[in-house]
Amino acid sequence: MSPDTSGVTFHTPSTLDEAFALLKTHGDDARVIAGGTALVVMMKQSLVVVDHLVSLASIPGLASVEVRDGALHIGALTRHRDVETSPIVREHLPFLSDVYGRVATVRIRNSATVGGGLAHADPSQDPPAALMVLDARVRLVSPRGEREVAVADLFRDYYETVLRSDELIAEVIVPIPAAAARTVYLKFLPRTEDDYATVAVAALAEVDGGPDGTVRKLRVTLIAAGPTPVRAEAVEAALEGQSPTAEAIRAAAELVAGAVDPMDDFRGAPDYKRDMAVVFTRRALERVLLGAQG
Ligand SMILES: Cc1cc2nc3c(=O)[nH]c(=O)nc-3n(C[C@H](O)[C@H](O)[C@H](O)COP(=O)(O)OP(=O)(O)OC[C@H]3O[C@@H](n4cnc5c(N)ncnc54)[C@H](O)[C@@H]3O)c2cc1C
Repeated sequence: MSPDTSGVTFHTPSTLDEAFALLKTHGDDARVIAGGTALVVMMKQSLVVVDHLVSLASIPGLASVEVRDGALHIGALTRHRDVETSPIVREHLPFLSDVYGRVATVRIRNSATVGGGLAHADPSQDPPAALMVLDARVRLVSPRGEREVAVADLFRDYYETVLRSDELIAEVIVPIPAAAARTVYLKFLPRTEDDYATVAVAALAEVDGGPDGTVRKLRVTLIAAGPTPVRAEAVEAALEGQSPTAEAIRAAAELVAGAVDPMDDFRGAPDYKRDMAVVFTRRALERVLLGAQG
């Protein structure tokens, strides 16, 4: 334990139990820190004011990537860059490598962790879109035991999750989709290549009997489109069980306009972002249902 120059005490527990004990002792005056990319910015802006930081970095076993029971198990301390470059993730779920590789810059990805990203709960973050279409879940641990929560149920509001005050994210569990599943992530970046999305869409589809067959499973999720990531259930329901024609896709994509609630900011007005959500949803559907390129 050594105080840093700002007077905040930086704790480096070597077990989860020690971390839980520190969090209990210091209560609201303590925060867990992983990569620090989000938390340090929030502390500098006085959006988070605490005297104790409890680092997870010295706790062994939180940064592994494994395949078990048909799912990828990615430890909470795994860095974005490691998900992007892991041979295991690349072999079993290249889509996930690609999406983590779309986050910010290499410099940020070298520090930002999978668990920290999810706990931060900024609705403009890229990974939740992919994790939601993949039906991923998080394993949460606390002194009381553990539970699993679907990533789709993790977010409550801007920067708010359903995590209880004594809970930590231990790992993300990502079922490996059927080999025939098609996936896409389209990130609308009209400003710079390393910006947050103006709007972005992830989609996963399984189609029976090739591109002209019936849509067996469809998942569509948007980010930067409301206070939390948005699962476009109306779009999914309109196309599941149907034959995916260009006309049906166009009509289904329009339904996303009623599901999103974008924020007015320097990336655009809500109406503009809503229109872009429809356009990018249509393009994503064309990619996963019709195999369209571009
Ligand atoms: C300049 C910049 C650009 C960015 N651009 C993008 C972008 O384009 N796309 C994108 O998706 N993201 C972007 N981000 C956000 C980035 O993804 C997050 O800052 C990062 O994922 C947070 O992870 P971390 O490990 O640094 O978390 P930290 O900053 O350490 O922690 C964030 C929050 O999570 C909590 N926490 C950390 N680990 C755990 C855990 N295991 N269990 C429970 N709570 C935990 C902390 O207490 C804190 O509240 C950007 C960030 C910056 C600074």
